[in-house]
Amino acid sequence: SRSDHTILITGGAGFIGSSLVRSCLRDTTLTVINLDKLTYAGHRESLSEVLEDPRHTLIVGDISDRELVAQTLRDHRPQAIIHLAAESHVDRSIADPPSFATTNVLGTCVLLEAVTDYWQKLPTDDRAAFRFLNVSTDEVFGTAQPGEQFTEMSLLAPNSPYAASKAAGELLARSFGKTYGLPVVTANPSNNYGPRQHPEKLIPRMILAAARGEPLPVFGDGLYERDWLHVEDCCRALLAILDQAQPEERYLVGANQCLQNLEVVATICDLVDEFLDDRSSRRELIAHVIDRPGHDRRYAVDASVLRSKTSWQPQIKFDLGLRETVGWYLNHSDWVSAVLSKEISR
Ligand code: NAD
Repeated sequence: SRSDHTILITGGAGFIGSSLVRSCLRDTTLTVINLDKLTYAGHRESLSEVLEDPRHTLIVGDISDRELVAQTLRDHRPQAIIHLAAESHVDRSIADPPSFATTNVLGTCVLLEAVTDYWQKLPTDDRAAFRFLNVSTDEVFGTAQPGEQFTEMSLLAPNSPYAASKAAGELLARSFGKTYGLPVVTANPSNNYGPRQHPEKLIPRMILAAARGEPLPVFGDGLYERDWLHVEDCCRALLAILDQAQPEERYLVGANQCLQNLEVVATICDLVDEFLDDRSSRRELIAHVIDRPGHDRRYAVDASVLRSKTSWQPQIKFDLGLRETVGWYLNHSDWVSAVLSKEISR
């Protein structure tokens, strides 16, 4: 089993990464090296319970820093990498595409090169057991047709600069597998939600605005569909993939929970009304705003390969997960202000 080893997680102070670090420490015997630049999206506050854990080391640095990556690999000798570090917000990618190419394409390439150098010098058995798990996104497949779900055979057809930069990162990772033999595995999770997601993303943004009684901006007609996956289900899937996947395999990760944005926002309104119990009707705050350019109408993921090749099953139903997430944001104003104040001070 690959679970008794050291792994390097990139981007482990972000939303999914910090949840993954916690899952590793709680559910496995893995030792975790966490390489994160602590951009506006990465926070020590997201790792508060695990910063002192002897099985977790946070290294603050950039995946594009080849010497730092090489030294980290030499010092800690991981048997696997889970690569999550990225610029991740579609609207920011529309405003500033080059910063997405810098981290998601060039950074991924520098990381791949440093990892390949390290991997080539490992003993034969360790080389065969090694995995580079590249965490991509379902957004690389573009827009799904009504009723369609993306599969492992879907073509890359990214429509936002974010999705294009992730697709480019995937193709580079694939090429390192083909050219140098690096054992690369790809995961394409659908939209994650849960505690510690940056307030710029749909669900936390709506929860916080609803709590403050501010307008709730919904893009266009609000009938865009997303396939929601709880972050803890995503992390369990990533660990199952790390344990079972063969080189060159791709795994789509989703929980079959496609919903329209408007339904999600309306449910958030009802939950905030219920939690704050102040006789407000927050659905009245929903305001349709001008659409995002290039907006994909629908993402939906067929995760049957993941379910058949591993024992993974999603465990968190969306209504319960959303209720717990709303409660988390309403009870963690300290985390929210730490995250927002870092942004303002930049
Ligand atoms: P996030 O923005 O919350 O976290 C990204 C982390 O990467 C941050 O901690 C940031 O500091 C770090 N980082 C950014 N640039 C870096 C660099 N150059 N060097 C080192 N660290 C750097 O993102 P997230 O939502 O946790 O997503 C994590 C990964 O999963 C991303 O690769 C994203 O594309 C992918 N993904 C996310 C979702 C989702 O719904 N959140 C869905 C599918 C795939």
